[in-house]
Amino acid sequence: MIPLAARVDRIQPSASSMATQKARELRAEGRDIIALTQGEPDFDTAPFVVEAAHEAMQRGETRYTFVGGTPELKQAIRDKFKRDNGLEYSNDEVIASNGGKQVIYGAIMATVEAGDEVLIPTPYWVSYPDMVKFVGGVPVFLEGRADNGFRISAEQLAAAITPKTKWLFLNAPNNPSGAAYDRADMKALTDVLLDHPHVGVLTDDMYEHILFDGHEFCTPAEVEPALKQRTLTVNGVSKSFAMTGWRIGYGGGPAPLIKAMAKLQTQSTGSPSAVSQAAAVAALNGSHDYVKERAQRFQERRDLVVSMLNQANGIECARPDGAFYVFPSCAGLIGKATPDGKVLESDLDVALYFLEDAGVAVVHGAAYGMSPHFRISFATSDEALTEACQRIQAASARLA
Ligand code: PLP
Repeated sequence: MIPLAARVDRIQPSASSMATQKARELRAEGRDIIALTQGEPDFDTAPFVVEAAHEAMQRGETRYTFVGGTPELKQAIRDKFKRDNGLEYSNDEVIASNGGKQVIYGAIMATVEAGDEVLIPTPYWVSYPDMVKFVGGVPVFLEGRADNGFRISAEQLAAAITPKTKWLFLNAPNNPSGAAYDRADMKALTDVLLDHPHVGVLTDDMYEHILFDGHEFCTPAEVEPALKQRTLTVNGVSKSFAMTGWRIGYGGGPAPLIKAMAKLQTQSTGSPSAVSQAAAVAALNGSHDYVKERAQRFQERRDLVVSMLNQANGIECARPDGAFYVFPSCAGLIGKATPDGKVLESDLDVALYFLEDAGVAVVHGAAYGMSPHFRISFATSDEALTEACQRIQAASARLA
C-alpha cells in the first residue's frame, strides 16, 4: 500500500463527473436514464476544423511544440483577443494549455501561497475551490444572490477584500447559473478593484460566445484597461466551438505570470497536443457564423426548459443570460416525502430522487456552493429535454 499525500484529502472529485459516471453505471444496468449532467455541447466540432487537424497530421505536425503554444496558435489567440475583446497582447503575454482548466490551475499554482485568499462568487464552477485548496489557499465565497440574478455587487466585493486577497475569480456567462454581467455592473466591480492594487482578476470567459437575448459580452480588462496588468483573461475552444475533447484553452495576461505558467507547463504536461493546436487555429481564425447559429439553438432550448421546469411543483427556474445550464431552486421540494416515505432534506436528496424515481440525472446545487438548487445542462436534444422535464414534473407531483 502506498500512502497518499494529504493534499488529495483536501479536495473532492468533480461532482458533475461523478453524477455523469453514476448515470452511466445505471444505464449499463439497463435503466432508462436521461443524463443532463454533462457540461459539453452535443454539437460536433465543425468539419473545417476537423479537416485542419487532418491536414496538420499529414504535414507531419505530430511533434512537441513550443511549450506555451505554436507561433500560429499564439497569433490566432492574439488576433481573437484583439478582434473580440479589444485587448492587445504580445506573444509573451499569451499561453495555450490543455484546456481552460489547465490555464486556471497553472495560474493558481504559480501565484497562490498557503493562506492566500481567493474570492469566488457563488454559484461557482466546481473546480475553483478545490484547485485553490489543493495549493493551501483559502476560498472566500461571495454569494451571487438569486434576487440579484446570481451576480455579486460592488458592495459585497469591497467588503470581502482583505490584505490577504490574491485574486477575484469571475465567470460570466456563468456555469452553473448562466448569469452574465452587463458593462455597467462589470464597471462597478472593476472600480472597486482600482482601490486595491494587490488584488488580481482571473476572468473565466469560456462561455463568451453563448449569450442570449442580444446580451453583449464584456470582460474586465476591456471594461477597465487600468486592470489589464493584473488580469488573467482565460478562454478556450471547448464550449464555444464544441471542442471539449481537443483540450485547448488559453490565457492572456502579464508577461511574468504567463512565463511562470509556461515554466510549470515545461515540468508537468509539456505542450498541448500539436494536432489540437492546429485545429484551434482553424476554429479561432475561421467563420463564426455556425457558433452564432448554435447559440440561437441553445437559446431555444433554454426557453423550453425554463418554461417546463416552472410548471413543476416546488421548482422555480430563473432565465439564464448565457451558457447552456439552468440552475433552478428546489426549495419547494425540501421537506416533502417521496412515495416511499423518504423526506427530501437537501438538494442532494432531490437529485437522487430524480435519478432513482424519474431516471433523470442532474447535479445538486451544493456542488456549486448554493443550495437548495440543482443544475441541468440543456446541451442535449429537444426530445430528451422535453422527456426529462416531463419526468421531473411527474416526479415532483408525486411528492407529498
Ligand atoms: N471554466 C468553466 C466555467 C467551465 O464550465 C469549464 C468546463 O466545464 C472549464 C472552465 C474548463 O474548460 P476546458 O474543457 O477548456 O478545460
